[in-house]
Amino acid sequence: MSLAAFPESVHVRAPGKINVYLGVGGRHDDGYHALATVFQAVSLYEDVIATESDDFTLSVSGVDDADSVPVDDRNLAMRAAKMLAAATGFVGGVHLELRKSVPVAGGMGGGSADAAAALVACDVLWGTALPPQRLHELAARLGADVPFALHGGTAVGTGRGDQLNPALARGRFDWVLVTSDEGLSTPEIYARLDEHRAETGSLADDPPLSLDVPIPVLQALRSGDPRSLAASMFNDLEAAALLARPALDEIIKAGLDAGALSGIVSGSGPTIAFLCETPASAEYVQAALRDAGRQALHVHGPVAGARIIA
Ligand code: ATP
Repeated sequence: MSLAAFPESVHVRAPGKINVYLGVGGRHDDGYHALATVFQAVSLYEDVIATESDDFTLSVSGVDDADSVPVDDRNLAMRAAKMLAAATGFVGGVHLELRKSVPVAGGMGGGSADAAAALVACDVLWGTALPPQRLHELAARLGADVPFALHGGTAVGTGRGDQLNPALARGRFDWVLVTSDEGLSTPEIYARLDEHRAETGSLADDPPLSLDVPIPVLQALRSGDPRSLAASMFNDLEAAALLARPALDEIIKAGLDAGALSGIVSGSGPTIAFLCETPASAEYVQAALRDAGRQALHVHGPVAGARIIA
């Protein structure tokens, strides 16, 4: 084998996600909630460049609050690299350069995308060449959203959100994302949901520990019709995110007034995802929201999962 078989650095790109549907059931004994969700990977990407190194180091750039992202073992990408090394017996290290575009703590799975990208990049850099199923297992141990960032596309997640099955989605969906300067903590939003449900008695005494995605959501994705999808989008965490950040409600109204078909809190928020009928209407909604002083991005989905950039 020639030396060129092992590159000095490997660049991998992985997408952020929107939860087109997110149903939250009861809490399992381990603290995780039962979920039924539909992920869609969108064209807002994390770039991870893995470079040969004796130690494990990490740097972060690309977002205004890059300083808020940990560069030690709390970073999911760092944990991914170390987990791969431990699983394969690789002796050595890596420098991971994270170039982020997905907002930090934005409910779009940016950290999970970094972890998925780091797994793929280190696997190539170190020549460990794990079979896809093993990479998937490591991803699932890192976090419920990490396997999806590996695979991309559109997928149904059940169990704790980590049991993935591809969903058929026709065509392309145009989204406008409104991001916020300050993130929301996912565990806090789940805690608020539990409190809210206890206060309002809005969940049965015996909440379901196994959930399904409603059929109309899957039919809408298969049809490729944004109007049908807009009518069936839903997020159980939205009420809790709005309690934590009431100003999000105004953003949703502004997007709908500008012509979006539907607006939804993405995951645990605070990013708001607006579904638009066409690329042109998404451009229009984006411009209207920007004119009103919002940070708005036009993206589309579904896109591929973590992949090597030549
Ligand atoms: P979730 O996957 O729970 O929806 P999110 O998309 O809302 O998460 P992330 O940006 O993935 O949020 O990160 C949430 C927190 O995790 C951050 O506030 C940060 O402290 C920590 N974190 C760990 N690794 C990373 C990473 N690679 N990028 C960003 N944050 C990270």
